[in-house]
Amino acid sequence: MMKRPTFAFGLVLATLPIAAFAQSAPASTSRESGASAPVDLSAAKPGRDPNQPIDSAYTAKIKEYTTEPFFLSPLVDYLPASKTVPTPKAVLGDIAGAPTKLPYSKEVYEYMRALAKASPRVKVYSIGTTEEGREMIAVAVASEELIQKLDENKAKLAKLADPRTINMDDKVAEEIAASAAPVYYITGTIHSPEAGAPTALMELAYRLAVDESPYIRNIRDNLITLITPIVEVDGRDRVVDVFNWKMKHPGQTVPPLVYWGKYVAHDNNRDAMGMTLKLTQNVLNAYVDWKAQVIHDLHESVPFLYDNTIGDGPFNAWIDPLLTNEWQMIGWNNVQEMTRFGMPGVFAHGTFDTWSPGYLMFIAATHNGISRLYETFGNGGTAETVERTLSPSETERTWYRQNPPLPRVKWSLRNNNNYEQTGLLVSLSYFANNRRQFLENFYQKSKRSVTKAKVEGPAAYVLPADDRRPGAQAELLNVLRKQAVEISRATVPFTVTVSASARRSARGADSATKADTGTTTTRTFPAGSYVVRMDQPYSRIADALLDYQYWSPNDPQKNPYDDTGWTFPEGFNVQAVRVTDVKVLDAPMERVTGEVRSPGGVTGTGSVFAINHNADNALATLRYRFAKADFQIAEESFEAAGKRFARGSFIVKGVPQADLDKAAKELGVQAVALAAAPNVKAHPARAARVAILHTWLGTQTEGWWRQAFDVLSIPFDYISTQDVAKNPNLNAKYDVILFPPTSGNGTAIIQGMPMWRNPVPWKNSPETPNISTLAQTDDMRPGLGWQGLENLESFVAKGGVLVTVANTAEFAVQFGLTNGVTANSAKSNSVVGSLLRTKRVDETSPIVYGVSDNLAVYSDDGGSFSVSSTRGGRGGFGGGGGASGRATGRGTADDPDVTQGRSVDPKFDAPPRATVQPWQAAPVTDDMLRSPINIIPPDQRPRVLLRFADQKELLVSGLLDGGGDVAQRPVVVDVPMQKGHVVLFANNPLWRGETIGSYALVFNTMLSWDNLNAGRKLDEK
Ligand SMILES: [Zn+2]
Repeated sequence: MMKRPTFAFGLVLATLPIAAFAQSAPASTSRESGASAPVDLSAAKPGRDPNQPIDSAYTAKIKEYTTEPFFLSPLVDYLPASKTVPTPKAVLGDIAGAPTKLPYSKEVYEYMRALAKASPRVKVYSIGTTEEGREMIAVAVASEELIQKLDENKAKLAKLADPRTINMDDKVAEEIAASAAPVYYITGTIHSPEAGAPTALMELAYRLAVDESPYIRNIRDNLITLITPIVEVDGRDRVVDVFNWKMKHPGQTVPPLVYWGKYVAHDNNRDAMGMTLKLTQNVLNAYVDWKAQVIHDLHESVPFLYDNTIGDGPFNAWIDPLLTNEWQMIGWNNVQEMTRFGMPGVFAHGTFDTWSPGYLMFIAATHNGISRLYETFGNGGTAETVERTLSPSETERTWYRQNPPLPRVKWSLRNNNNYEQTGLLVSLSYFANNRRQFLENFYQKSKRSVTKAKVEGPAAYVLPADDRRPGAQAELLNVLRKQAVEISRATVPFTVTVSASARRSARGADSATKADTGTTTTRTFPAGSYVVRMDQPYSRIADALLDYQYWSPNDPQKNPYDDTGWTFPEGFNVQAVRVTDVKVLDAPMERVTGEVRSPGGVTGTGSVFAINHNADNALATLRYRFAKADFQIAEESFEAAGKRFARGSFIVKGVPQADLDKAAKELGVQAVALAAAPNVKAHPARAARVAILHTWLGTQTEGWWRQAFDVLSIPFDYISTQDVAKNPNLNAKYDVILFPPTSGNGTAIIQGMPMWRNPVPWKNSPETPNISTLAQTDDMRPGLGWQGLENLESFVAKGGVLVTVANTAEFAVQFGLTNGVTANSAKSNSVVGSLLRTKRVDETSPIVYGVSDNLAVYSDDGGSFSVSSTRGGRGGFGGGGGASGRATGRGTADDPDVTQGRSVDPKFDAPPRATVQPWQAAPVTDDMLRSPINIIPPDQRPRVLLRFADQKELLVSGLLDGGGDVAQRPVVVDVPMQKGHVVLFANNPLWRGETIGSYALVFNTMLSWDNLNAGRKLDEK
């Protein structure tokens, strides 16, 4: 039988969804399951069942706390009464949305568990814990019958979620879709100051369990509502602390919520790619375990209800187009129904683009479900009713917002809870009525994720067994594992066709697509290579993370909502070859179970051990594991035991082989035992005493640094700018101070917050028991101050190393901690969270040991540096002269001018001027040295280690508009300052767990902190 060409296969598949819909009955005409009478509830109107009594005291309070009648709907303007099931009042002491009460997580959980105890329609599940050990829960609400059949129902959904289990049989899938109940997963208050969701969700759970109105019964009978009332539990308890403090200290300045989770604040909703935070892992596991169809995440920053799921372009390029239609269906139905209720300010569309898959809700989008997000209107972490004046942009009437929010309004938590519950109930009702279609879509999306390998491709990504960075490779594969992606491993070598295009020279990735007519070649991958097959249900998230992103500068969307590029193999600096040749799927391979470990241990025998420097992060972990042992770093490459070791490799003495072997196995580090130390110049690798420095203005971006250090078991002290201001002898405690990006400019770092009004404490106390002891102060207002600046300067002058990044690097430059450096900004919005290519400038610097050329780095906004050998000078530009620099005169552009009437003796010619590249300082001339006051001594001049690549190869992934003001400029600069160093990063080397490939730049700096001048060649003049 002849093999069918792949394109024909694609055409056949493309017709399937239409056929499936044609055969399915309209979803809303019958009730498929249930022993009760086949009453059609789908047309039920919202509103109470007149036969069910209401809780009149509770209902009266709803009306009291709602500021206008039109902020209510027929779904929430009453509370049904129950003789057996407690209302939220039982725990809150008042109704949900009362102006004096924000409940702690334990109160919310206590209520949910009381509800589960009292109602057979409710079950509570523990889904994990947070970084600080607080519990996360999921509450399931459905009819008794559905709750009793949860396992049976889940088994059905599992078949739709993994169509391979039913041999991709559409008929079987249709039968399941006709009888299964979907799972609609609602997640609340990931953003701690957006504090209304928990009370709304307590009441929602009660309504779904108790209300006998046909509208609610229809929901309860036909789908399972799953609720995580609090996603950021650590931050929840802190925001309640701060709210309670506010109530006890009327009229005082309230402490800003500087910490939400242990590590990050608002960015906890950017972790759905890197999966570094427990809350992301727990929600993903719950979503995957329940085989849910939706994640609906609740936020509160836009009036009055913005269904931002639909958002604006560009949409993410890796999701199934069926999903984008589903966003529109559910979203516009929501607007329609709530507008019908007369609730103002309900809209969809807006400016949010749906490009980045980093948002929590996007777990569903990248795992064949439906992502949804509401912005309702919150009062910023308080339960109080507040007079609010909205901005014109929030209240103007637009095509997608015909009934906009009111310009001035008294707004209550109860109003917010009304909007949240009404929107959710409308969505649940719509989903229940169209459940069959949504389940068929769920199946189709899952199926097309499997057929993707042979339809649109790629067939797989291959991570070669011989990657020079097996540790980073394992880290990348473990991110995919957390994403529930299946990973396989080749048992024998295999050969496939790959694109010969060298466009992505750094990673050697295969950029071929079906349309690519470029030449191809074959490549043989060794046994043990990892294969991420695209014929699996969760192929889309793997593809989205491993592929490249291109955001056109011509895109109509000029304000990307978040990062535009994230290509994980580039950020991790490992190879992942995109293979479109479907033969790869036939290579002999086995599934990897459990965590991926890079091979490690000691080979050979001897008392000295050599460890190659490949910039894997475990090298730093290992050094700190044996903090007291003798670790040397080779300043040149060398050969030993028949192996080549790169510059920067470790030479270890004084550790028993068995101990090193155990640690090396655990950490995935390969060590070679030698009889004697190799003959190579070396300096000590120090287990430096490190502090991570934060301000009280913003801690989020440095939180990613702490997170990485904790994961890698690298110890550090956590200090604030106030601690620095109080300590004139920082060298006694620290060798290296890391100052990751913070909020505000240099002046704000010095000044802190305004000193007027009352002290603003951030302190663990009986009043605020959930403020952690991680960082505390009696008064958040004072900044670094001039004393702190002086202490930092003294720390560096006496030999310490200060590492600064992005805005803290600008601070160091602005306040005179560096000589001969200026900071450049790129044109606004020309780079927005992109990966950019770098080149090594000085590979002898310890800071770049083991780091390969062409490293991709994360650039937030295209910032860079220029260097100069003179104080106050600006290097690099305009110093080159050349043809284009000549004045008007005779001859061509390259010719010299000739002055008429005098001899042309070459001895009067100026010496040729050196070409100065943008990453270089202009050379010091004899003329300049005649007055050397501003000439920086050679050993105090900035040393450029990494620069941005040339413009044509600058963009790795994301948006780059132009780039002439970024290309070739310095990215990482080591600036000596008396006995110490200030190291400047224009990129952020530790970002959201996505830049594993850049971490070594920081760890190298720490390990060689007192030898950073190694390999340096000083200028002659
Ligand atoms: Zn939010």
